[in-house]
Amino acid sequence: MFTKDNTTVGFIGLGNMGSGMTKNLQLNGFKLVVNDVRKEAAETLLANGAEWANSPKEVAQRSDIVITMLPTPKHVDLVAMGENGILAGMTAGGYWVDMSTSVPEVTERARTTEVGKTIHIMDAPVSGMSVGAANGKLQIFAGGTAEEFAKVLPVFEAMGDSKKILHVGKAGAGYAVKLAINQLWFSHLVATAEVMAIGVKAGVDLEVLRQSLIASPANSNFVENDVLSVLKHGDYDEGFAIALACKDLGLEVDLARSVGVPVELSSLVEQIFRRAKAQYGDRAGEMTPMKLYEDLIGENLRIQA
Ligand code: NAD
Repeated sequence: MFTKDNTTVGFIGLGNMGSGMTKNLQLNGFKLVVNDVRKEAAETLLANGAEWANSPKEVAQRSDIVITMLPTPKHVDLVAMGENGILAGMTAGGYWVDMSTSVPEVTERARTTEVGKTIHIMDAPVSGMSVGAANGKLQIFAGGTAEEFAKVLPVFEAMGDSKKILHVGKAGAGYAVKLAINQLWFSHLVATAEVMAIGVKAGVDLEVLRQSLIASPANSNFVENDVLSVLKHGDYDEGFAIALACKDLGLEVDLARSVGVPVELSSLVEQIFRRAKAQYGDRAGEMTPMKLYEDLIGENLRIQA
């Protein structure tokens, strides 16, 4: 097992998610070697004892397990198999766990390389937003063998909620589960914004409408909890950029295409998100599609905080 006493964790990608995840690995006693294209993202970690590596290759050479937390499959591909990538620094029996929201194609390609055939490659994407990463309460959906999962579990436990760290199947299953979660959550968001806009225009008090939905068979976690960040605080969650939400929806539609399932709804939700991205910018929060409906009815969807 990888424990804090025998393991140096290499971590690449210190953004909204990776910064919180590494902070919690460090708080739980793991030694860290880190890398990002923005060295300034590592400042606090380095001040607290983490070591800097100049490339993903160097991270791999100096650690027992490498974790990547990168924006898109393209970034994962580059960091793994580009010049001075992880694979160039790994030796037989090593571990690479990709925790990005990505697709199996990249890790499958890595497995076909000479080094890739001799190492363990797992996927373990997460849910729980940047706040979950900061609090060490992520949900983690791991794909790999049972032995691999058991070996990496203490590392996952340092970043996640122990009741919500799931071994969901063989390599690649973690990516598929994560994309399903995001697709359903984004669909809840669009559907909720739509009915709330209609309700308000029809003269119903927004909180009365929300409580009625909660008391009905139409209730959902989104209506009960997650929508409140917009309704109460006008917070569209800039901790997760809409450009990345669009990426996730596109990957789910691609996955559906590759397994031969027609997905009218997923494609429609993707287009609505892409419209919001075009209108409000790449860095707008993942809940910004609600703004499209606010703009349509000419008022913000708000209740008393
Ligand atoms: P982010 O853009 O905030 O961070 C990504 C980090 O990767 C940045 O620090 C960037 O500098 C670094 N990076 C990019 N290319 C690199 C390279 N070639 N070498 C080294 N570092 C590189 O993204 P994020 O919000 O932290 O998301 C990371 C992943 O987690 C994405 O796949 C996203 O879909 C997923 N995710 C995000 C959230 C969220 O709420 N933000 C929630 C769940 C899952």
